[in-house]
This record gives sequence, C-alpha cells and structure tokens, in this order.
Amino acid sequence: MNKVGNYILGQWTEGAGDGTPLVDASNGQLISYASTEGIDFGQVLDYSRKKGNPALRKMTFQERGRMIKALALHLFSMKDKYYTVSYQTGATKIDSWIDIEGGIGNLFANASLRKKFPDQPYYIDGEHAPLSKGNTFIGHHIMVPKEGVAVHINAFNFPIWGMLEKIAVNLLAGVPAVVKPATLTSYLTEAMVRDIIKSKILPEGALQLICGSARTLLDSVESQDVVTFTGSADTGRMLKSHPRIISEAVPFNMEADSLNSSILGLDAAPGTAEFDLFIKEVRKEMTVKCGQKCTAIRRIIVPEKWVEEVQLQLSAQLQKTTIGDPRVEGVRMGALAGKEQVKEVQERIAELRKTAKVVYGDNGILKVLGGDLEKGAFISPVLLIEEKPFENTAVHEVEAFGPVSTIIPYKNLDEAIQLAKMGKGSLVSSIATYDNNIAREYTLGSASHHGRILILNRDCAKESTGHGSPMPLLVHGGPGRAGGGEEMGGVRGVKHYMQRCAIQGSPTTLSEITQQYQVGGKYKDPGQHLFRKHFEELEVGETVITHKRTITEADIVNFGNVSWDHFYAHTDETSLDGTIFEKRVAHGYFILSAAAGLFVDAAKGPVLLNYGLEECRFTKPVYAGATIGVRLTVKEKVDQEKRSEDDIAKGIVKYLVDVYDETGETVAIATILTMVKKLDQSQ
Ligand code: NAP
Repeated sequence: MNKVGNYILGQWTEGAGDGTPLVDASNGQLISYASTEGIDFGQVLDYSRKKGNPALRKMTFQERGRMIKALALHLFSMKDKYYTVSYQTGATKIDSWIDIEGGIGNLFANASLRKKFPDQPYYIDGEHAPLSKGNTFIGHHIMVPKEGVAVHINAFNFPIWGMLEKIAVNLLAGVPAVVKPATLTSYLTEAMVRDIIKSKILPEGALQLICGSARTLLDSVESQDVVTFTGSADTGRMLKSHPRIISEAVPFNMEADSLNSSILGLDAAPGTAEFDLFIKEVRKEMTVKCGQKCTAIRRIIVPEKWVEEVQLQLSAQLQKTTIGDPRVEGVRMGALAGKEQVKEVQERIAELRKTAKVVYGDNGILKVLGGDLEKGAFISPVLLIEEKPFENTAVHEVEAFGPVSTIIPYKNLDEAIQLAKMGKGSLVSSIATYDNNIAREYTLGSASHHGRILILNRDCAKESTGHGSPMPLLVHGGPGRAGGGEEMGGVRGVKHYMQRCAIQGSPTTLSEITQQYQVGGKYKDPGQHLFRKHFEELEVGETVITHKRTITEADIVNFGNVSWDHFYAHTDETSLDGTIFEKRVAHGYFILSAAAGLFVDAAKGPVLLNYGLEECRFTKPVYAGATIGVRLTVKEKVDQEKRSEDDIAKGIVKYLVDVYDETGETVAIATILTMVKKLDQSQ
C-alpha cells in the first residue's frame, strides 16, 4: 500500500520503513501509512529558507494577497473531494465544513487583508517619531519579512483549517512554511497539499509538508525561523523548552488545550431567549467535531438555582445526538479521530469523576448508525456536575478532548468570574445574558484570562458565529494555559513573521526608504500638475504648490448656508467667551473644500475619482482675512489589479494635503485617496 506523501525539496517522497498505519475512525479500516524515515529535516528547513523565502520576500503584499486569493479560489473549486477524505477522520459534514470551507475562508480573509498593507514587500509600522526640534531628524519603524521559515506543528483535529489558518498569515508576510500535521489525520492535509503544489500558484519552496513523526524537526531551527505549535500543553511545553528554541531565540507560539467556559447570566432564567440560546450553544460545542475542538466548552458555569433545569434540558438535547459513521444519513456526531483518543478521553473522564458526578452518558454508547462499534472510535457525550468547584479543582485542570463537559454552579457574578479564571487562561469564554451591565462586568472582570469573549443574546444570536469559531480577523490564542499565543488575527498576525527595525534619519531619506512621504521631506518637482500624470508616472514626494486664496466673512456665511452647519462658533461672534476662538471661525470642512478648489486640476485627465479622506486634522483656527495655500504631495501609491478584462487599469494614489496660512503654519492636514488611471491599460 502507498504511503502518505511528504512534499520536500521540490518533490513528493515517501519515508522509508513500514510507517505508522492510519485508519478510518469509524470502522478501523486501513487507509495508508505515514513515514518520515530518512528525511533530513535540516535540509528541508534550509530549502525553505534558500528557495521559498527569497521568492516570497521580494513580492509585494498586494502580490502575495492576490496569490492567496487565487489559491483560495482554486481550492474552493475542488472542495467536494476533501469531504470524502474528511469523513474518514470521523468528521461529519458540518465538522468537515468547518475544517475545509472554514480553512479556505481563512485564505480569503487574509487575502483581503492585503488592503491594509502597502504596495511594497515591507510594512511601515505606526507613526513616525519626531526626534528633533527642526524636524531634520526623525524616526520610524519598518517591518521586513524574516529570512527564515515558519514551522507549523499542528494538532490532529483540523487537518485542513489548522494548516490554512497558519500558512495564510506567513505567506502574506512573505515567509515560507513547513507544515507538520499530526500523523493521525495527515492524509487529509496531504490531499489538499497535492492540489496546492499541482496548481503552481505558490512559488516553489513556499510550502513543504511532512506527514509523520518529526521528533528532531526543531533540532535545526534558526534565529530567523518562527515555530508555531498547536496541540497538548504537555507537548507544547516540551517543545518550547527545546534547547535550539532557546539558544537561537526562535519565537515559539503555542496554542494548547484550554478549559473554556460558558456562563449562563443571572438574568437568563429558564424560559428566556438567552437560556435557550445557552443550551443550544453548549450542546453544539459538546458535539461538533465530537468535542475535539480546542475552543469547545468544557466548563458550563450556571447560577446554582438553575443547575437542575440546565442539566435536564441539556441531557434532553444530548439524547437527540445520533452517533455513527459520518457517511450515513442522519448522523449528527461522528467518531473521535482514533481508538487511542477514546482511551485518553476515558482516562480524563475517570480523573474528573473522582469528585464530579456523571449526569449524562454514563452507559456509554449502545448503538451507532453505520460504522463499527468495536473498531470505530465512538464515544457518547458525557455531562458531569462538579458541586464544589472551589475545592475540587480537577474541573479547571483536566481537559477531556472529546464530547465532555461539566456543569459548575455559582452564586453571584463575582463567583462566576472567579471560576472562569480558575482555568488559568483560555482561548475563549462566552456568556449568555440580555443584561449589558452583567455583560460589561463579566467582560472587564475576566478578559485578562481569555483570548476571546462572546456575549450571546437574542439581538445577535441569529448572525453570531458562535462560541467555538475563531475568526481570521480576530485574535486566536489565549493567555496562560492556552499557550500565551496570539499570532493570528488580522494585521497583528502578519507582523509575527516580520522583523521590526527602527530607522532614523532625515525625512527625505526616510521618505525614499519607506516610499511614504514623511512630513518635512524635500519636495520633488513633478514638471506638470500631478493630476495630469498617470499612475506609473507619479513619484512619492512630488509636490504641487498652489496659488492662494483669502478667506472672507462671506465665505463663512455662505458655507453655513450651503451646509446648514450653523454651529455657534461659525455664526455668533458674541458667543465665543470661554472658547479658544477669538472671532467667528471658518468651518474646517470649508477649509478642506477650499483646499480642493486650490489643488484640483479641473480638466478631464488620468484622475478617475476621489474616494475619501484619512487622518484629517484641523490644526489652527482660520478667521476671515487669513490667506491659505496648499502643498499637495504624493504620499503613497498602491497598485490595483483589474477586476475584469474590460476594467480600467488603475492604482490608488494617496496625497498629503497640507493647508497653510500666511504665516506658513499648517491649518489643516489630510490624506486624500484618489484612483488614477494607468498609462498602460493592458496591466
Ligand atoms: P499533541 O499530541 O500534543 O500533538 C500535537 C502535534 O505535535 C502533532 O503534530 C505531533 O506529531 C507533534 N509532536 C509531538 N511530539 C513532538 C516532538 N517531540 N517534536 C515535534 N513534533 C511533535 O496533540 P494532539 O493530540 O495532536 O492534539 C490534541 C490537543 O491539541 C488537545 O489537547 C487540544 O486541546 C489541543 N488543541 C489546541 C488547539 C488550539 O488552538 N489551542 C487547537 C487544536 C487542538 P505526531 O502526530 O506525529 O505525534
């Protein structure tokens, strides 16, 4: 029988030896073997650094984002085939949807994130720092892709999502990846990687795959690499203290098991919408993916007066969970990933039972729909109650990675907060409440211990993404026990794979380095008005200095009439006592409009439209009699792709609009966003 492939050094190879047998979770039938025997991991990591890294790091964020989008579209077009493979892991259709389409959705989200980055291979972080009185010496921060490789060591539960949620981020940052899925379900990751490699959408070396044990993988990590780990806290701690991680100071991001909690608010009595939502959410989190979700609810924290009602309603719901082979119609909960996992979950339940009482699932499973009860990795949902949660702490420490959860009673909100925190750090917590004071108190009281908090109520339930779903643009990770990581979640995730370097020099030099005009930098003569130039012809720093205009009382009156903005400071000279104004002041928006009147070159040309403003400030009052002029400077350029063949080829030009008065002082400053046609319409 063929083994699961490893994609390394530009080719597919099978490891030597017999390999580890991989079996179908529902019936124990052999699927394949996995082996990494004979693979030189040092060579693999080096290949990524030497081949994949240079190819990715020279691409701009926009190019990388478009590449990720192309990959997402490609994988989406063939998604059905992964479902067939996914069923073998014990995952139902819904479980597989989370894994496959959730994973691809992550690629889409990160591809869109490119719009938050410049049209450069590097990123300029934050605002410049003024370091001198005369503004001839400033500081800034530049972030460049690390020159190493992202090593992703993943857990078995989401073989696709686990890979895609991570590589989307490192690819956007310009860093290649070596993915090491958990051996148990690596055949599903492999199925998708085969399509990724075949598509040639990623440059060679951007992605390598190791399916099988990789105990010595970290022996050759280097200081420019980044390691991410998802799995059990024990393995995570062991790997985090690997001598090479320490000696090379390699960033190590860990996402480990966490004892996530969900709280029923003190207002959410039985019969309220929030009570029903709570029961539904807990049931879902217990049974989706057979409870093998790092974000699953392990602790159900409930007002003590409603413990019985929660137990009854939850048990009734769990009763409806049909268990079996996910390929069989009507199955709502599949199998654990393997027999070993069943044993482990049972051991954890036994630990919890030392003090807690099982109130549902004590009889195990009597029948399954399809599958093989003996050879399959089936398990019943198990609901427990821990009545003394302050004394018996196993419930806050022992994670049974399956459909297992424990009800915990509380008396008041302080107790609920304290209990939630006894998990010592979790990926997510949720609270069902329609009382926003409770929501606020819980959030502020416990946010220090969670990576994410969901507040569930009747207003948001319909569109809520749920307790268990990390969102690509929000932090995924959590403090303490959850591993202390947060390398995903929007722009902050991408930065994790980049090196921040402070740069200091003159505004002119820093403008050239960053390709963002820095205030105080020398102006360049554009030769003609900027609005007459096409996208490719414009250069950062090119400036037009306009003619001037004197503001009159009539301007202020007229603008008030046109806009209906009759705020007292513009209209009533007698009302200005105790304000910062000496006279009737011109509307800030008028100054900006008047600036447009000065800097716009009216005739039809390459400028297609103005679509907004960023960072607008009115820095000094303008009174009638003041004379204003504008310095219009090309601040930054962002290339845009054509949406279709007949789309106009164009890019975004950000202009710095500096409005100054007769003293030369700036009175208003803003960045305007324009779309400018390209000379070459074929691009
Ligand atoms: P695990 O046993 O800790 O394994 C995780 C990964 O580490 C696997 O790929 C495993 O490879 C690898 N590994 C183990 N020892 C290694 C070593 N010495 N060197 C290099 N790699 C090594 O965890 P699991 O059983 O797969 O996953 C279940 C756990 O993951 C649960 O506790 C769950 O809470 C946690 N989890 C957390 C998150 C999160 O986001 N926080 C997400 C999912 C799962 P092999 O398979 O080859 O042994």
